[in-house]
Amino acid sequence: MFDLIVVGGGSGGVRAARIAAQYGASVALIESYRLGGTCVIRGCVPKKLMVYASRFASEFEAAKGFGWTVGENHFDWGLLKVNRDAEVARLEAIYRRNLENAGVVIHQGHARIIDQFTVAIDSATTLQGKTILIATGAQAVNDLSVQGYELCIDSNAFFEMERQPRRVLVHGAGYIALELASVFRHLGTEVQVVYRGEKVLRGFDDELRTHLESELRLTGLKLMPDTGISQIRKDSDSLRVELSNGDASEVDCVLKAIGRKPNTDGLGLETIGITLDRHGAIPVNTYSQTVIPNIYAVGDVTNRVNLTPMAIREGEEQALARYPALDVYSTHFRTMKATLSGQPSKTFMKLLVDRASDRLLGFHALGPDTGEMVQLMGVALQMKVTKSALDATLAVHPTAAEELVTMRQPTRRYALA
Ligand code: FAD
Repeated sequence: MFDLIVVGGGSGGVRAARIAAQYGASVALIESYRLGGTCVIRGCVPKKLMVYASRFASEFEAAKGFGWTVGENHFDWGLLKVNRDAEVARLEAIYRRNLENAGVVIHQGHARIIDQFTVAIDSATTLQGKTILIATGAQAVNDLSVQGYELCIDSNAFFEMERQPRRVLVHGAGYIALELASVFRHLGTEVQVVYRGEKVLRGFDDELRTHLESELRLTGLKLMPDTGISQIRKDSDSLRVELSNGDASEVDCVLKAIGRKPNTDGLGLETIGITLDRHGAIPVNTYSQTVIPNIYAVGDVTNRVNLTPMAIREGEEQALARYPALDVYSTHFRTMKATLSGQPSKTFMKLLVDRASDRLLGFHALGPDTGEMVQLMGVALQMKVTKSALDATLAVHPTAAEELVTMRQPTRRYALA
C-alpha cells in the first residue's frame, strides 16, 4: 500500500507528489495524458510562448520610429509550433525526471476511484493508498444551447493547429479567450470576440476592464458585447456563425472559451460518498480535505481559484464594508517607448489604500511589462506595505514602474456615510 496516490500529473499533482516523496512517503502518481498538465502542456507555458511570438509584429512596427528600416517580415506558424512543442517536451521530461529522482512511481492511464483506499488504472490495474489526492484539473465547457457548437475548437485544439487561420471568432471574454484572441490578432488574423456580458473580463477591476477594451480595439480586434451565438454551420471549407443580434459571420475557426469545468466525470466520486457541488467541483475544507478524511483534492478540480481582484468596482464596495475610508490612486500614461514608435497604446496602474491604516489593499496594472511588476507588488501586499512606504521609495528612473511610487494625489476618495 502506498502512503499517497496522486491522481493527475498537472501543477497541483506533480508538486504534491514530489514534495511528499521528498519527505519520505511512498507515492504513486497516475496521469492519463502528459506530465505537466494544462499549465505546461496546453496552458500557461505554450500560451506565453505564443504571446512572445505575437509581440514581434508590433515591435517591428515600433522599431521604425527609432530609425530602423525593417525588411520584409514573414511569420511561419508551423516553425513556431515545432519549436514550441520541443520546448514543452523538454519541460515535460524535466517534470518526469524530478518525480523519478524523488522516488515517485509514475503510471500512465485513466484513474477511477473504487473505494476509499483503492484506485483503478484503465480498469486493468489497481493501487492501494492510505491517502488519495485528486488533482485532475478542468476542461473547457460547451454551450449546449447552440446548434453546431461541436464545430468549435477549445484551447487544447488551439495548441494543435498546424496552420494559422485567416478569420477567427472567439466565444467568451475571460482571460483565456482574450489572450488567445490577442495572439491571433497580433499575428494578423481577423478576430471578433463575441460575449454575453457588457464588458470583457468579468470579475476584474472595472476601470481596468474599460481600459483593456480600448487597448484591444486599438489592435483591430472586433469586440461584440451583449451578443450570443445562435447557430454554427459548416459551409464548404468555412464556418457560418449566426449571432443573437441577427448578424452572421463567415470564419475559418470558432474558439470556445466561455469557462472551464472541473474534470470529475467518470472519477467514481459519487459511489464513494463525495457529492459534487453545482459546478461539478469537489467540495473541500481549508486543508483541501474532502468529506472522506483520507481523500484530498487540489487545483482546478476544486474550482476555488478566484482571480477576482480586490478593487473591482463591486470589490471597492466590499472593501468599504471592511475599510470605511478608501483612497484610489490611478494613472494612464504612454510609456517612453510608445512616444517615438508612435504607438497609441497606454499603460494603466491603480492603487487602493485604506485611509485609516495607510495600508495598500490592492494593485492593478495593464500594459507592457506590467506582468513582471505584479509579482513584486504581490510581495509588498503580502508584507502589508503602506502608501507612505511607497512614497518614501526612491523611483528607478526612467521606468514605467516608477509610477507606483510617484502617485501622490488620490484620484478618488471613498468613505462610508
Ligand atoms: P491540470 O494542470 O489541468 O492537471 C490535471 C491533470 O490531470 C491533467 O494532466 C490531466 O490529463 C490529468 N487527469 C485528468 N483526469 C484524470 C484521470 N481520471 N486520471 C488520470 N489523470 C487525469 N494559469 C496561470 O496561473 N497563468 C496563466 O497564464 C495561465 N494560462 C492558461 C492558459 C490556458 C489556455 C489554460 C487552459 C489555462 C491557463 N492557466 C493559467 C490555468 C492553469 O493552467 C491551471 O489553473 C492549472 O494547470 C491547474 O492545475 P491542476 O493541477 O489543478 O490541473
